[in-house]
Amino acid sequence: MEIYYHEEIKIITFPLLPFYQDFALYIYYVDGLLIDTGPRFRKSKVLAEYKKLPIKQVAITHHHDDHMGMAGWLSRHKDLEIYTHENTLPHIKKQKHLPWIYRFGRKLAGQFDPVIYPEKLTTKHYEFIPVYTPGHTDDHVVLYEPHKKWLFTGDLYITSHPKVAHRSESIQQYIESLEKIMTLDFETIFCAHEGVVTDGREKIKEKIAYLKRMKKAATEMHREGFTDEEIVKIIFPRQVILESITFGAFSRKKFIQACYQDEDGT
Ligand SMILES: [Zn+2]
Repeated sequence: MEIYYHEEIKIITFPLLPFYQDFALYIYYVDGLLIDTGPRFRKSKVLAEYKKLPIKQVAITHHHDDHMGMAGWLSRHKDLEIYTHENTLPHIKKQKHLPWIYRFGRKLAGQFDPVIYPEKLTTKHYEFIPVYTPGHTDDHVVLYEPHKKWLFTGDLYITSHPKVAHRSESIQQYIESLEKIMTLDFETIFCAHEGVVTDGREKIKEKIAYLKRMKKAATEMHREGFTDEEIVKIIFPRQVILESITFGAFSRKKFIQACYQDEDGT
């Protein structure tokens, strides 16, 4: 685990999966505000830090475990508010509606009562505007600090050239959300898996152009009758590591499907 600062922002980073060092997670803390919490299964990595940090507010970018997993622990051990988008609520509730036997131990550890994002979160020195940005998930939010021109992007960016997607992802929504954030006057982006990206605007522009290209190509081939497997072979012939380490939860085929699904309603 590494801890360092970028301007006033404390950065806590470690490999998300113990068996694969190249895919990192970045958690940000600034002025009493923690942005995302890290996953429950990496609790030992963050616990010492969370115990000593004077966290007053927690901003959750979306419901995935690497972002929200430690929210339950934080709500039980610290005096703080946890903010989420209203679309995150069903994902939290889901845990509450589990059969009672599963609610003990680890499952119970995930529960907390969130506060729905107000128009802005205020800390002692800054303000953070939550901006709804679906695409990766239907509850995704980025946090924009207009005076410092910081943008905390959760999983909206990750890379400008993604080759895999999860079944919850929509490329059309990604494009719309990325275009929406381009209307904000930000400079640096703080990504949950890439860290600090100082040429953030350029990278987001690149990603929009790339996703539009891919969406067009995949949709055209799909309409011409190519199967998903054939399109994958043509567009992404090489294996992608993220596909094997997530056991196919993220895959090239799902990326292709996410490209054309909004076009023909399938
Ligand atoms: Zn995610």
